[in-house]
Amino acid sequence: MNRALNFNAGPAALPEWALKEAQNELLNFRNTGMSVMELSHRSKDYEAVHNEAQSLLRSLLSIPDQYEILFLQGGASLQFSMVPMNLLKEGQTAYYALTGSWSEKALKEAVKVGKTEVAVSSKENNYKNIPVLDASSIPSDAAYVHITSNNTIYGTQWKQFPSGLNVPLIADMSSDILCKPLNIEQFDLIYAGAQKNLGPSGVTVVIMKKDLLERSSDNLPTMLNYNTYAKNNSLYNTPPTFGIYLLSLVLKWVTDQGGLEVIEKKNEQKASLLYNEIDNSNGFYNGHAELDSRSTMNVTFTLNSEEATKSFLTQAKEAGFVGLNGHRSVGGCRASIYNAVPYENVERLAQFMNDFRKNY
Ligand code: PMP
Repeated sequence: MNRALNFNAGPAALPEWALKEAQNELLNFRNTGMSVMELSHRSKDYEAVHNEAQSLLRSLLSIPDQYEILFLQGGASLQFSMVPMNLLKEGQTAYYALTGSWSEKALKEAVKVGKTEVAVSSKENNYKNIPVLDASSIPSDAAYVHITSNNTIYGTQWKQFPSGLNVPLIADMSSDILCKPLNIEQFDLIYAGAQKNLGPSGVTVVIMKKDLLERSSDNLPTMLNYNTYAKNNSLYNTPPTFGIYLLSLVLKWVTDQGGLEVIEKKNEQKASLLYNEIDNSNGFYNGHAELDSRSTMNVTFTLNSEEATKSFLTQAKEAGFVGLNGHRSVGGCRASIYNAVPYENVERLAQFMNDFRKNY
């Protein structure tokens, strides 16, 4: 069967190897006589999967021992609330960098919990760039600074993370975690919904410094307190076992590719194919993001008329390309080229863009 040319923003393309492995093991997982979904989450067989997912992630991202790796549910959206509920104390202020719709949503939830400030924003510039966050503008008694490392809708990405902060740095990495090596120690808490670079929707990964755990009040609802997950190896209640299993397969695949340095190179090559097409089109294609803020994960562009954009999307669909419509809030076109999107598929899209421009 031919697999689709899938450029969906999330849920998004998964590595074919991971899907085939899941298929092979579906009816009889490691001689248990049942699928992984049918195992008790308290069984040794499931525990091995759970711990393997954690250790693969720890090794891929070189996560030091003083960080917990937690598996939660509720998507990145629940983290918009959990972060301030656990970490924003009365009398403190949390600072948010506004770089797109998801950071706006994160801020909206924090406002319900406590005092917030916008640390920096590129809203006036229609979120075309990543602004500079001046560490000296953040008071040392702030609760934390929150950034969105990759802006899925606008196609921008932080190239250099804020440094010199004296307060915890928190990042929503939902749409670019594992796209390149990361110095985890720059961050105090990272969260990511799985459905782009990590696996299927339903699992949310949180990587947090252990010393932040003492901030959470005992009065928080049990399931909204990070300590519940940390103390129970994310097995206080039934975790999304099948999602965590697929996550472990995706992490194995990333490891087998040669790790994050190799993945980063591939991602840069894939992104260049499309950005070159935009840059060499004499204005036929207009990239949304400013050059120094361009995302390697989501390439956003419009054509020089509404009609041309529409025609491009229609013909692309007819040619078998899936998921190229921009987010409903901004329109235009967006190609999401996460880790699992094959190079050849991006090459085919670049060729299609070239042909379309010449024939239009
Ligand atoms: N943050 C970012 C950067 C996202 O791209 C998304 C979803 N696409 C979210 C948060 C929300 O994630 P979820 O649907 O898992 O709540």
